[in-house]
Amino acid sequence: DGVVYSQLPRSCRVMLLVNPQSGRGQALQYFYGHIEPMLTEALVSYTLVITEHQNHARDLVREADLSQWDALVILSGDGLLFEVVNGLLEREDWEEAIQTPVGILPGGSGNALAASVHHYTQSSPVWGEELLLSCGFLLVKGLVSRLDLVSVHLSSSRRIFSFLSLAWGFVADVDIESEKYRHVGAMRFLVGTMVRLASLRVYQGRLAFLPVRDTPQTGQGTRDRATPSTPPKSSSCSSQPSGPNSSPNQNSCHSANSIQNTAHNSSNNAITTMTTEPRPANQRGPRDSLLPDLEQPVPEHWTVVKEEGFVLVLAMSQSHLSEDLLAAPGATADDGCVHLFYIRAGISRPALLRLFLAMEKGAHLAIGCPHLVYEKVTAFRLEPRSSEGALTVDGERVDFGPVQAQVHGGIARLISG
Ligand code: ADP
Ligand code: MG
Repeated sequence: DGVVYSQLPRSCRVMLLVNPQSGRGQALQYFYGHIEPMLTEALVSYTLVITEHQNHARDLVREADLSQWDALVILSGDGLLFEVVNGLLEREDWEEAIQTPVGILPGGSGNALAASVHHYTQSSPVWGEELLLSCGFLLVKGLVSRLDLVSVHLSSSRRIFSFLSLAWGFVADVDIESEKYRHVGAMRFLVGTMVRLASLRVYQGRLAFLPVRDTPQTGQGTRDRATPSTPPKSSSCSSQPSGPNSSPNQNSCHSANSIQNTAHNSSNNAITTMTTEPRPANQRGPRDSLLPDLEQPVPEHWTVVKEEGFVLVLAMSQSHLSEDLLAAPGATADDGCVHLFYIRAGISRPALLRLFLAMEKGAHLAIGCPHLVYEKVTAFRLEPRSSEGALTVDGERVDFGPVQAQVHGGIARLISG
């Protein structure tokens, strides 16, 4: 239940980006069959942009004259919105640009954000074209709330912004391996899960994180939203911003399942102060005040996980991992934290299968599985030791190697219910 922040203008102008290749290749059919009639009836003027290749949307958004648009909406999977968000943050005027409302219409095989947005309206779950219709109605209604983004530093020293998930181990491998089952649509994750379950493996690495409860109040993390430099341009609204600090979700961000097998890092090189030197000109976007250099040890007040064998590590920013996996039932679009899950090595195949089956209803945390750990965090670091396996961010494969990330609470705007 994200706080309603504003409403799109009555006759709003939407840039609608469609990836014709997404999912089963039916995105354009979905548009003409379902979305166009809705937009016409609601007098929403739109410009249809059909993407021609990967990064087309990203380049376009990076160069666009944003004063022409009240919202950027995609009809595709999560991958296309990932391009849009990162394009906005690569602009010189990123701070204002990222406040352009973005919207999602599910047309891909991975529609996790669309499923999450629908879930936040507290409606009963729907799939496929019904989910598309639900998101279409939300677009026409035009309510806009805040959206957390997670800044992710990759081993290549590139930084990307994520609105959905970071996965390593089981979930990441399923994501990558199931690409070849794209023709079955959203079912690809189920098929992929079964295949990977048959050849279950353990991934070696180190995990550390900064729990919400140990996050300095002055740090960014949950409070980025307090500093909007410009008012959102689509403010001919019925519901005005209710103040930057009006949704103090911080207190609700306590851990639901405390970590038992963790130890505190006793490094002497701890960095606990915020860095203030100017960042390189090519690094646009918000400053990551919670993160030391990737080569430095993590700060003392972080929690370091003792075990180094994992079946999966999954950092969720939204409720859904896919249309039918409710991985973080307590998540909202702007709760200012990352819902971090990991499964320790040693879990049996049947127990892992039970977890994934329970996840369809978001009941996996209630099973009491001793191998599953859940924590709400504002930052984390993951250092894979084994060379095999994949890392995914928002369902897309990224450079494999050490990564660290921190949340920037509510810096983006999302069309939602
Ligand atoms: P899906 O859920 O089916 O994977 P996505 O929206 O995630 O759909 O898109 C998958 C990938 O395709 C993304 O990396 C996206 O950037 C890329 N892409 C976007 N437009 C095109 C296009 N016209 N042709 C091929 N790939 C594209
Ligand atoms: Mg995708």
